[in-house]
Amino acid sequence: MTVAWTAHRFSGGILALDTTNTVVLRCDPARRFDRFDDPAEIPRFAAAASIFRRPEIGRPLAVADAEAVASTVRALRESTDALFRRPAAGKGLEAGAMAGFLRDCATAIDGREELHASADAPFGPPDKPLAFEVAFAVSALSLLLPANLKRLKICPNCGWLFLDKSRNLSRLWCDMSVCGNRTKARHHYRRTRMQREKTDG
Ligand SMILES: [Zn+2]
Repeated sequence: MTVAWTAHRFSGGILALDTTNTVVLRCDPARRFDRFDDPAEIPRFAAAASIFRRPEIGRPLAVADAEAVASTVRALRESTDALFRRPAAGKGLEAGAMAGFLRDCATAIDGREELHASADAPFGPPDKPLAFEVAFAVSALSLLLPANLKRLKICPNCGWLFLDKSRNLSRLWCDMSVCGNRTKARHHYRRTRMQREKTDG
């Protein structure tokens, strides 16, 4: 079944975290699944990211050969999650995880002269297509900036990583309209059941 790459699936606030969040329920081994199990989802994700992440990337994202690039994308996705889940939980960055992450970034970027990054355009010249895995690596590297590191959070409902861009760092959920409401509904259900049990008993 193909995935509907809706706005909700881009709740990470930055391309690197949206990509990391393509593994659903990552911390629940019994229920986790990978939306990129079918490599054909990678170009579909990249096409949606070209729209939802336009303000960040400023270039359309291209996937020339999904099968060929799938292992690079998956490896970088896993090392990005391994590195940044710790600071999102208030812990320090690990040297080993950092080394693995940088190696995977290098694999994605090596030899890709079309990047042409500059201070004004970290993802290179606007409007020319950029390979998705290159954009993913540049986006992931930007998470090392202190301004981004301090905004990393983990959604308590679904476990997704996201950047809290609110001014006072008050965001709790990856997406209030999905995870916030589900949690509210659960609490409401528990409360009304307890009240009913009280009146019945
Ligand atoms: Zn969530």
